[in-house]
Amino acid sequence: MKWSDMRRSNNVEDSRGGSGGVPGGVGGASIGGVVIAVIAGLIFGVNPLEILSLMQGGDVAPAPQRQGQPIQDRDSDFVKAVLGDTEDTWNRIFKQQLNATYQAPKLVLFSSRVDSACGFAKAAAGPFYCPADDKVYLDMAFFKQVQATAGADADFARAYAIAHEVGHHVQNQLGISTKVRQLQSRSDKATVNNLSVRLELQADCFAGIWGHYTAERNLINGQDVKGAMNTAAQIGDDYLQKQSSGYVVPEAFTHGSSEQRVSWFDRGLKSGSLKQCDTFSTSKS
Ligand SMILES: [Zn+2]
Repeated sequence: MKWSDMRRSNNVEDSRGGSGGVPGGVGGASIGGVVIAVIAGLIFGVNPLEILSLMQGGDVAPAPQRQGQPIQDRDSDFVKAVLGDTEDTWNRIFKQQLNATYQAPKLVLFSSRVDSACGFAKAAAGPFYCPADDKVYLDMAFFKQVQATAGADADFARAYAIAHEVGHHVQNQLGISTKVRQLQSRSDKATVNNLSVRLELQADCFAGIWGHYTAERNLINGQDVKGAMNTAAQIGDDYLQKQSSGYVVPEAFTHGSSEQRVSWFDRGLKSGSLKQCDTFSTSKS
């Protein structure tokens, strides 16, 4: 992944180096387990520490505190590059496919805890999007762990996580999220869950659209995508459900199966078209 060639975004806010520490140690887990949990967490928006906890059947050991992260480092530079690339891509798509103007979201880096319009996020909350303030929130402790365990191969998984959250922002800007929430407020539980899955799959498809245009400019290649797909094929809600045995990871049940996620990501990736990402009016989900 040639992220050094990507334009840096000006929309990254750095809220790291606050009062808390960076969760680091994950006692007792194998390196493979950490890699799977962290990458699954990044891609699917599930807290990796919870996944690890499930895999180990116990609590994750607290880490020593580290403070005062430098403002400029590889991780923040990487996030600025990927976010900048999503801005360029979505500017173009909005203009070409919708004849509209894309309003880019802000992205907040945090390392300990962060106060969003959607509530207070604790350490290791994983990446999330808050529609109330139009911001993507990224816990950098995860990025550090991916870097430590998966090395350079982790780049696309991390970029995919950002692109998925930006996908939620696109849904918000298109009014899709609001419509879905309204529909959910008068639906039964099964329908509510089904709609949430479709929203998540669409964010995957939108991440695929970003991948389409980025691949077109030779900034990512087939190997990057293949790596991410392999991970996605191994880990989805179905996998997590098998692992959980009674313990509920709330976000895990609303993201769709691994097969569904790969299929929708691939659809966006191959077509580059918003029309191909209508996860709502299709029986194929
Ligand atoms: Zn999501």
